[in-house]
Amino acid sequence: MPHILIVEDEAAIADTLVYALQAEGFATRWLGLAGAALELLAREPFDLVILDVGLPDISGFEACKRLRRFSEVPVIFLTARSEEVDRVVGLEIGADDYVVKPFSPREVAARVKAILKRVAPREPARAARAGAFRVDPLRAQIHYHEQLLSLTRHEFRLLQTLLGQPERVFSREQLLDALGVPAEAGYERNIDSHIKALRAKLRLVAPAQEPIQTHRGLGYSYTPER
Ligand code: CA
Repeated sequence: MPHILIVEDEAAIADTLVYALQAEGFATRWLGLAGAALELLAREPFDLVILDVGLPDISGFEACKRLRRFSEVPVIFLTARSEEVDRVVGLEIGADDYVVKPFSPREVAARVKAILKRVAPREPARAARAGAFRVDPLRAQIHYHEQLLSLTRHEFRLLQTLLGQPERVFSREQLLDALGVPAEAGYERNIDSHIKALRAKLRLVAPAQEPIQTHRGLGYSYTPER
């Protein structure tokens, strides 16, 4: 039974969606705030998210952007006429579809079914190789020279980001963004200490190699061993 998360602050609208989706055999969960929804999505897998654009805490657009840092779950935006999402905006943010209020709940249920059918054959993200590294995003694990690294959450995301684009120089700000930490918080120096810790762990496995490069005044990159 697919699990659908509905994020909508208007109870009457949420109710009609819950009713229509349950009638189609979906399990539903309803939350009224984006912040709570993001927390839940980080903990529990859902098959699809219906996300209101006009939420009281942060906008649905912003919520979707943050969601895309850790999840590829399909998203349908709900938007009031006055909010006018255009398709391009929705797709740039990583949404799969949108419906304009007032809508028929059955139409939303039909869109949900269509999207789930489309994404069903999608294979789960598989382990990818980068040089001596093997990244398994589902298990949040990275092996280096076939040894499992014991990484903190931030170290995992940092290394995964660097490995994702070999030779690309990432600024500290970009790396903070990959960690989901706001750059204005003055955490840029924290990146340096995470990198230092990460290098120490890599050196334990392969003392002679230096896969993470420092670019003075610019940031860091991953260079595959030759
Ligand atoms: Ca609303």
